[in-house]
Amino acid sequence: MTSDDSELASRLTALTRDLILIPTTDSRPAERERCFEFIQNHLDSLGSVQITSYESKGYRSLVVGPQTSEPPEILLCGHIDVIEHPDPDSYHSAIRDGRIYGPGAGDMKGADAIMLELFRTMHARHPGISLGLALTSDEEIGGKNGVRFLVEEAGLQAGIVIVPDGGSLNEVTIEEKGVLHLRVRREGHSAHGARPWLGTNALELLLERVTALRSYFAENWPIDKTADHGHWYPTCSLNIVETPNESANRIPSEASATLDIRFPPPHTVGAMLDNVASILGADCYIEPLMTADPCHLDSDPIFCEVTEAITGNPVKLIRAAGASDSRFFRKAGIPVNLSRPLVGNLHGEDEWIDINSMVTYYWICQRYIEQKLHIS
Ligand SMILES: [Zn+2]
Repeated sequence: MTSDDSELASRLTALTRDLILIPTTDSRPAERERCFEFIQNHLDSLGSVQITSYESKGYRSLVVGPQTSEPPEILLCGHIDVIEHPDPDSYHSAIRDGRIYGPGAGDMKGADAIMLELFRTMHARHPGISLGLALTSDEEIGGKNGVRFLVEEAGLQAGIVIVPDGGSLNEVTIEEKGVLHLRVRREGHSAHGARPWLGTNALELLLERVTALRSYFAENWPIDKTADHGHWYPTCSLNIVETPNESANRIPSEASATLDIRFPPPHTVGAMLDNVASILGADCYIEPLMTADPCHLDSDPIFCEVTEAITGNPVKLIRAAGASDSRFFRKAGIPVNLSRPLVGNLHGEDEWIDINSMVTYYWICQRYIEQKLHIS
């Protein structure tokens, strides 16, 4: 490590740890506000940038960029929200084995710190450069009032977006699976549990159809637990089963199941939904909670070249089972570079980010921006 590297490492580490201390969960809007204030204070010293705050249904987003009406050629994009942990005291960090451990370290406060530092440094050095930064606060619950709002309603545009929320240091995500989050409801007829012949058990009938659906997925696309990469086939998980019934001796008249279905191309939301509906049958009511088509990210080959040059290792182009906010940019035709520093145990209490890889990722982004914007 050069002295530049270690100075950068300590700046990024301090900023990440400060961000982790603010529990920016969905149930704590005041903490999310506090985090945005902290970030804004961080950016205030830059005289030449324009800071715009948006709000949609209680979710704030911050968009920062040069003082011009032209969209930035490169946009850095992240989210400040983290998932909820049962223990409210878990929102702090520790340094061990060259890693920062703590809730949100890897997803994605470490990456937020890199983008903030990068944005500040680049704008201080080259006032007016065509580099933007967008930070949202609802990615973990779907991005509807964050990136979707910014792109579809606030008119956010960019030449290309860097989203450090997927892939790895030498793994650039080029495709993401589509999503169907469905709530399936079945109605029946209540009766005393001792006389099932008098009732219609909504829960049993629902589970029968859901089991048929799961068998359909298992037969057509069996899950291979031994493969470590590229599970590029449709999957279906039954994640919630509910009934308003609370009596052991009553047959439930209502039940619902929530499914998480993921699929690669050429499947589409429409075709997958038709398929699922025909297997579940006409007696099940299907309510889509969230849907997204699979998307190709159209990442920039120059980003991969720069990653190879800086890391000295080849880049692997990967396909991701999970979806990210990238899909909203793709719907608007904006290409996305999706990779990130080395991270692990995402959404666990011992979530981590590797500090050296943060520095490397910083240099990758910096060189990429310099090349694209013809500065040095
Ligand atoms: Zn994330």
